[in-house]
Amino acid sequence: MTQVYPLQFKPEMKERIWGGRALQQFGLELPEGSIGEGWMIGDHPNGTTKVMNGELAGLGLDEIREKYGREYFGTKGYVEGGRFPLLIKLLDCNDDLSIQVHPTDSYEGLPKGELGKTEMWYILDAKPGAKIIYGLQEGVDRAALASAIEEGRVMDCLQEVPVEAGDAFYIPAGTVHALCAGVVVAEIQQNSDTTYRVFDYNRPGLDGKLRELHVEDSLNVTAYEGAGASRMKTDAIGDNEWLTIAESPYFIVEKGLVRAPWQLSTTPESFVILVIAEGEGSLSWDGGKQAVKAGECFLLPASLGGYELDGHLTVLRSVTP
Ligand code: ZN
Repeated sequence: MTQVYPLQFKPEMKERIWGGRALQQFGLELPEGSIGEGWMIGDHPNGTTKVMNGELAGLGLDEIREKYGREYFGTKGYVEGGRFPLLIKLLDCNDDLSIQVHPTDSYEGLPKGELGKTEMWYILDAKPGAKIIYGLQEGVDRAALASAIEEGRVMDCLQEVPVEAGDAFYIPAGTVHALCAGVVVAEIQQNSDTTYRVFDYNRPGLDGKLRELHVEDSLNVTAYEGAGASRMKTDAIGDNEWLTIAESPYFIVEKGLVRAPWQLSTTPESFVILVIAEGEGSLSWDGGKQAVKAGECFLLPASLGGYELDGHLTVLRSVTP
C-alpha cells in the first residue's frame, strides 16, 4: 500500500518580460532569464508539476489525480473528469504586469475546456513605495472604460493601492488588476490560465513585438458594479491561530502563525495546501517528518489525517470549500 504523505512538487519556472531573479531568495533553482512565475503546484496543459519527494516522486499531478484523485483531493476537491481545482504560484514582479481581467466560468467567450479565474494574492515582500492596480475608480462604466482604452488613458480609470508584506487581496473574476514592480507574491487561484489584457504600457514582449490586447473580452467580463474584491492587513493574528484571508466558491485561504507545536488534521472533504510564507520549522505526520522553510508548498492528501507544524512559521492554508 502506498504511504500517504505531504507531496512536494518540483516548481515549473516561467520566463516573463516583467520577471526577475527574486525567487532565488527561497533557495529555488532558476533557469536563465527573467523568471516571473514559479508554478509550485499545477495540473494544467501549460504547466504540470511533478512530485519530488517520497515514493511517488516523478509522478505528475495529473497522474496523481488519475490514480488517487478521489482519495487525495477529497469529496469536494475532486471533480469527476476535472483537473486539480487550484493552481499555486510564486510571482516575482520585477516590472509592472499588464493591466488585466479574468472571466467567470460562465463567460461564453472562454476557450473550450478552460475555466474562469478567481484568484488571491498574499504579498510576501514589497519594496518601499510598491503599489498595485486594484479595481476601477468609482463610477467607471463600460462606456467610460472603452473610451479610456481607445484614447490611451486607461490608467485614469484605475485605482492604485500601496502594498506591504503581509497584505492579502481577494480578486474575484471581473476585477481589473495588475501587480506592479517591486512585489513578490504568493498566488492561489482557480486552475486556469485565461487572462484578458486591457493595457500593456505599449511595451514589447519577449519576442520584441507588442503583446496582444483583448479589449472586447475585457470590456465584456469586467464587473463594473464591483466583483466583491477585498483587501486586508493580516497582522492582527495570534500565535497558533488561523485568520481567514480569502473566501470564494473555489478556495478558502487562511493565514496562521506557528510559534509552538500545532496539531492539525485534514478532513475527507478536501486536500490541504500549505504555502510556507516565512520562517523555518517542520511538518510531521503519521510515519514521517520533514523540515520546511519559506517558499515551499505542500499538497496534503485529504486522507492524510493528523499532522503537526512546528517552528517559527507564517503559513497559508488553502482548502476547497
Ligand atoms: Zn490575474
